[in-house]
Amino acid sequence: MQIVQQRENSIMGKFTLAIREKMQDYFGDEKLKMKSNEMISIRPHHLLDIIRDFGNKREVKEHRWGASLSTVTQKILADTNRIVVFVMGVDAICETCSQLQNDICQAEISRDLLMRDYNDRIDRELFEALQLAPGSQLQIGEFLQLVSDNLNVLNIFDPALQTKPRKQGTIAALKEFGIISN
Ligand code: SF4
Repeated sequence: MQIVQQRENSIMGKFTLAIREKMQDYFGDEKLKMKSNEMISIRPHHLLDIIRDFGNKREVKEHRWGASLSTVTQKILADTNRIVVFVMGVDAICETCSQLQNDICQAEISRDLLMRDYNDRIDRELFEALQLAPGSQLQIGEFLQLVSDNLNVLNIFDPALQTKPRKQGTIAALKEFGIISN
């Protein structure tokens, strides 16, 4: 079932200039694209990666395979009132990735593990745990609130494959956004 939530009183109404200034700091001098009508498609784990990296103040670099991580990160963080569509499979980040062939991710995490198999499992479990369905449209801020209410979903990620502190980064980001208090 597709879930579309558009609350009149956005939980991110408090997302003010101060937060946007933090984005400016995060991206350096690069100009933020603050608004766009374009609907971004995003895999749940990709959005969680973006949030984690922001919370960890990780520099957003060019992606090694040319994926649109930097561009999508900027758009996501610039306006958390933006509605995105959550998908399985190819999303806005994957579109320019050299590992994408015939709409199938060919990347390998290791000799025995295809990235698409790992990612598909993670996203299936995230969709289920957050009670969303592929195709669901939510404000980014609403998704962040959902994550904040269900922080145990971060345990879905395989700890052995985590190179950056996920829980710490996610909680730091949720605090920055005012979703949870300091
Ligand atoms: S195509 Fe694969 S490697 Fe490239 S961004 Fe998408 S999931 Fe990552």
